[in-house]
Amino acid sequence: MTRPLSSQETIQLFQDYVIPNYNRFPVALVRGEDSYVWDSEGNRYLDFFPGWGCGLLGHCPAPVVEAVRRQLGELIHVPNTWYTEVQGQWAKALSQRSFGGQAFFCNSGTEANEAAIKLVRLHAQRPRYKIITFEGSFHGRTLGSLTATAQPKYHEGLGPLVAGFVYAPYGDLDAVEKLIDAETAAIMIEPIQGEGGVRLPPAGFLAGLRQLADQHGLLLVFDEVQTGCGRTGHWFGYQVFDVTPDIMTLAKAVSGSLAGGAMLARRDIAASLRPGMHAATFGGNPVAAAAGLAAIRMIEEQNLLERARQLGDLFRERFVALKQECELVRDVRVAGLMIGIELAIEGAATVRACMERGLLVNCTHGNVIRLLPAMTLSDEQLHQGCDILAEVIKSQAV
Ligand SMILES: *Cc1c(COP(=O)(O)O)cnc(C)c1O
Repeated sequence: MTRPLSSQETIQLFQDYVIPNYNRFPVALVRGEDSYVWDSEGNRYLDFFPGWGCGLLGHCPAPVVEAVRRQLGELIHVPNTWYTEVQGQWAKALSQRSFGGQAFFCNSGTEANEAAIKLVRLHAQRPRYKIITFEGSFHGRTLGSLTATAQPKYHEGLGPLVAGFVYAPYGDLDAVEKLIDAETAAIMIEPIQGEGGVRLPPAGFLAGLRQLADQHGLLLVFDEVQTGCGRTGHWFGYQVFDVTPDIMTLAKAVSGSLAGGAMLARRDIAASLRPGMHAATFGGNPVAAAAGLAAIRMIEEQNLLERARQLGDLFRERFVALKQECELVRDVRVAGLMIGIELAIEGAATVRACMERGLLVNCTHGNVIRLLPAMTLSDEQLHQGCDILAEVIKSQAV
């Protein structure tokens, strides 16, 4: 057998053969288990950001691994010209835990949002076609979702973008109302902005959008790619705020760490998607579906929604205490296991220093340390990681 490559040798492969469109840490990871990952040199890291939000159940959760292994031996992929029980069961499970709609399956968040954008346009009576989205949002990288993403830095060099998107400041209901005209078809929003810095909606904002949508005959679309599937300690982010959308998109954790995406839509709206209008070759494939179902079962059998809320409370306590003793911490925002610590300085050095001490965290929006930890985290791991993060942040204050 050939020996495994060192991190340095793997990095050389990337330099030679992989397009350099990501900033990567100079480390090659080889194995994961729960909230730990190991690199080629055998170093272990405590992972407070497993799989960029996809690892809600930690790395390689046993029930998902087992379901996938079983499914791989039975049927890996068939096109959507056939029925498979497992896709039907997955749709039922998602529908029953949300607003009773129907599902379309795809493979990623951006694809789920493209499906939502197309459904909005197909469902709307002309002249309606415009979609209002929000500054600081993130909806994905394909051109429709990218145009919906109201952050100029992601648009640079890519114009002309897709017509029909208008942007409102996040949290400003009056501005939204002013943007509504006879051509407006929908409002699309993340119930909590993720990439935009873990921004929570101001009180009454989402309810206000629901009201505006109802008054003006618009669809309300929630991008729950990051907030969905249990992340907030509720099945879906909209349940935290008690405001129900007409269409919801899911990905990241929806398929137990495998590639998967879904759009759920109210039945009367879903009826506007008829055969031939939209498709995804791998969408709802048996392996992704088996993994997604296993993830839902694991969350229920292990009571992990409640655990996520508990862990969120512990994180909040830790970081609120840190804020009181360290002026670098400007704000602490927590919704279950979606956690943002806004710093008075850029966060890149904090991320690097944590990694050197064996803790993986993320920085978004320049100065917000973002944690999307696993529901299976232990109290001990939580405190170990928080100790490291607190020491690192405090050491930057001097
Ligand atoms: C990650 C993310 C996306 C994009 O998902 P991909 O799977 O990378 O296409 C879209 N919306 C939100 C809210 C996200 O967090």
